[in-house]
Amino acid sequence: MILCLSAAFTEAEYLKYKDPKQPLNARIKDLMGRMTLEEKIGQMTQIERKLASPDIMKKYFIGSVLSGGGSVPAPKASAGAWVDMVNDLQKGALSTRLGIPMIYGIDAVHGHNNVYKATIFPHNVGLGATRDPELVKRIGAATALEVRATGIQYAFAPCIAVCRDPRWGRCYESYSEDHKIVQAMTELIPGLQGDLPANSRKGVPFVAGKTKVAACAKHFVGDGGTVRGIDENNTVIDYKGLLSIHMPAYYDSIRKGVATVMVSYSSWNGKKMHANRDLVTGFLKNKLKFRGFVISDWQGIDRITNPPHANYTYSVRAGVLAGIDMIMLPEDFTVFIDDLTLQVKNNIIPMSRIDDAVRRILRVKFVMGLFEDPLADPSLANQLGSQEHRELAREAVRKSLVLLKNGKSAKTPLLPLPKKAPKILVAGTHADNLGYQCGGWTIEWQGVQGNDLTVGTTILDAVKKTVDPSTQVVYSQNPDANFVKTNGFSYAIVVVGELPYAEMFGDSTNLTMIEPGPSTIRNVCGAVKCVVVVVSGRPIVMEPYVSQVDALVAAWLPGTEGLGVTDALFGDYGFSGKLARTWFKSVEQLPMNVGDSHYDPLFPFGFGLTTKQH
Ligand code: BGC
Repeated sequence: MILCLSAAFTEAEYLKYKDPKQPLNARIKDLMGRMTLEEKIGQMTQIERKLASPDIMKKYFIGSVLSGGGSVPAPKASAGAWVDMVNDLQKGALSTRLGIPMIYGIDAVHGHNNVYKATIFPHNVGLGATRDPELVKRIGAATALEVRATGIQYAFAPCIAVCRDPRWGRCYESYSEDHKIVQAMTELIPGLQGDLPANSRKGVPFVAGKTKVAACAKHFVGDGGTVRGIDENNTVIDYKGLLSIHMPAYYDSIRKGVATVMVSYSSWNGKKMHANRDLVTGFLKNKLKFRGFVISDWQGIDRITNPPHANYTYSVRAGVLAGIDMIMLPEDFTVFIDDLTLQVKNNIIPMSRIDDAVRRILRVKFVMGLFEDPLADPSLANQLGSQEHRELAREAVRKSLVLLKNGKSAKTPLLPLPKKAPKILVAGTHADNLGYQCGGWTIEWQGVQGNDLTVGTTILDAVKKTVDPSTQVVYSQNPDANFVKTNGFSYAIVVVGELPYAEMFGDSTNLTMIEPGPSTIRNVCGAVKCVVVVVSGRPIVMEPYVSQVDALVAAWLPGTEGLGVTDALFGDYGFSGKLARTWFKSVEQLPMNVGDSHYDPLFPFGFGLTTKQH
């Protein structure tokens, strides 16, 4: 009798879902059996940081919080301030009846790019040119450590868009116009999450614990194929084309255990992806057996209707029934919660759909050990912007550079430059601007101009650090021709390019460099030998200038480590990058991708000259 009583007592206390020795499915089942509808819908709700507080987490059983582009607790917030903020919200979540931890997500798309002092890696367009998936995997591992150093457990990366038109404002988030390169670069996923154990079941998400983060393959699917490269536009392509160009990187991502997939704002042949049940549920979940969770994009369900927000009830239904499990909500999340609750209570949305969503979300949380380790690990704090990560970023920069021209003839190469020279000129808008170098999705959503945004080395700084102490370095942003002629320069380095931008704000029809770039090139290169370095998120119009310059380098958006550029310019390392995008002659040719019948590029896909080390 006594024994019996004590057994009953232990049973009442014992919570199977909290027992890490229990199998994953048993934990999920046990927890789901205890949850109310309110608690389940809370799990499906991801709210913006600005709307979150420990009380809100508790009151609404919120399952996830995000920092939207550039949403930070305070300008230049320290790692400690981030940790405190995330931990506070987590404690709110843990104080609920069932104590389900929340997961915090952020756009760490080229390093932990919202965070002051983080290492900023080259954007994906540059990484594609490295042709080095193993390097990209190491970048993923470093990024995971930096993200975890701020207490955050989820990165909305990688973007596995196959950008087919550089007029698209997100082209730089894409590794290549060629899906095979994008597929190879899904190595970012095991970098972020850890290597999938050999005995894993297909499609089951995997995140290897507290030095790793949940990844997010985005944006499903066809985001890089929109008409005229207009952001969030319609992708017109037949089913075979969709499967052969835009889908393959999802196969790889799922094979590598990606924890989450984000749905694209774009449409496929006129149907919004956020309402596309055939592709989200039929293809991704059923055919590909993806077992992680599907997240909407920011206001993604609101934009199912045209105009956006026209019929919220319809949008919630269409999005949830399409198979979206977690809803990313920038605005009044209580409207969403009330709406979804009502539609479930009225049997418009079946409970089985809610259960599928919650099961997937809990699976990710269990798999990654959030129930055991919900709070930040303070020992990771020194990972943010560490010297080791900066060295890795520098390596990535030098490998991403593509040398497009070297010398007026092959017999007279200009590069590599000698470190010892009497006097050199550094010119151009982009030579001394860390914000330009980093591009969009850096500190602010649209990027920042100037040098004060974070810690890093501009190309000008890098030149000064690299040359012999006897070499005089003169900087002039836009010198006139006479100044260049009369100052006895041995050669010049000119750095030009695009302004930072993100998403639709980067859509462009002319793809030109910013002023006064063309006159800087003319004034400088007309007077002395010059290498022009282009800092841009995509190929831009260069044909008129190629004959004016002695050497031409595509540096993409290299990030904080300008020394990677000078490593190659001054021959400490050879140039090795190859174009992962076609460099067009004029915008009238677009779209133009390798394999097209009208292919007539300025520099073809795969092009890239090499140099030897000094
Ligand atoms: C973008 C996503 C991003 C999300 C959260 C959206 O506008 O399309 O790529 O992850 O915002 O910041």
